[in-house]
Amino acid sequence: MELSQYSTMMPKKVFAGTNAIEKLAELCPGHKKALILCGRSVYGGGMTRRPEEILSACGVEYKLINTIPAEPLVDDVDAVIAQAQEWQPDLVIGMGGGSVMDTAKLVSACPQKGQSARRLLGNFSLVVKGAETVMIPTTAGSGSEATPNAIVTVPEKELKVGIVNSLLIADNVILDPSTTATLPRKIATSAGVDALAHTIECYTSNKANAFSDTWAMKGMKLIFKSIEAACNDNDEQARADMLVGAFYGGVAIAASGTTAVHALSYPLGGKYHVPHGVSNAMLLYPVMNFNKDAVQDRLAAIYDEVFGGGCAFSSGRKAELVIAEISRIVRSLDIPDKLEAYVTGAKDELDTLVDSAFEVKRLLNNNVKPLTKEDIRNIYLTLI
Ligand SMILES: [Zn+2]
Repeated sequence: MELSQYSTMMPKKVFAGTNAIEKLAELCPGHKKALILCGRSVYGGGMTRRPEEILSACGVEYKLINTIPAEPLVDDVDAVIAQAQEWQPDLVIGMGGGSVMDTAKLVSACPQKGQSARRLLGNFSLVVKGAETVMIPTTAGSGSEATPNAIVTVPEKELKVGIVNSLLIADNVILDPSTTATLPRKIATSAGVDALAHTIECYTSNKANAFSDTWAMKGMKLIFKSIEAACNDNDEQARADMLVGAFYGGVAIAASGTTAVHALSYPLGGKYHVPHGVSNAMLLYPVMNFNKDAVQDRLAAIYDEVFGGGCAFSSGRKAELVIAEISRIVRSLDIPDKLEAYVTGAKDELDTLVDSAFEVKRLLNNNVKPLTKEDIRNIYLTLI
């Protein structure tokens, strides 16, 4: 039998379901000083109120930074890290989307003066395990609550870079559907397709293995089933399932890895500030279409598992049907599918874009079908 080898990384505790937020109280004993990180909309929506009440009731002093930007520059993150180093929290709570949770991870990874996210960019092994972390996602998307990655934008390179170290895995995760109840549809849809992309990419990745397959497939099933009801009807059960599905997607990323969809997505975020979920939604169909022949059996397995299977279609036909369903879902969610919504003149800058994407070897190497610069160009051209 062939040797199967993979590393497994998981948060230690996960609380999921209605009122899961109340479980924060169980995490307080032994802690004196907490730091809550969130963005303006989460704070403005009153979502931090309950965690603040719980911390107070448990006698944990806390500080709140409510200005974490979306898709932060490395210097934005370092400004937060500097404030945290003054406060010296022993519990760091990230309440928000991927950007906030990634910032929370980096705050925990840089507890002492002199440590910074910029310094980690050059050497991921400088990550240390500082304060205990609690991740409370308020979008069902990034899966950051389960991954060892923290993504920052490096302005001088016009590129998003992932800092990766197993010490960045969160200690605790709270998945409470009340946190996504007031999420604007525009954000819910792109975050949801990002989560779907994580599961499909991890399942069709060179790094896919028995452990990641289990989580990717479970996540995919939940997401395919609930994404439209969650985004279009704000259905509570569907939103709860999306949070769990997105978390499973994160577990799959930790054990496998995303592929060319995410690789080609990073330059669009770095250069044109296309939100991460939107660029992945734009790229998911054209990249999977490109990959189709190379991962046909894997896509057919998705068809069998998610859409019932048991029929006499060939693998090729099943793969086509899965890709067609991806395309239908993305269209039904009204996510922009062309770059013109964000930038004019992308065609003139295509060479730079292709060169940047070609450098994202960490993810391109996970794609079963190798991509030449010409292939990348052709995929980008479908967005212009
Ligand atoms: Zn993603």
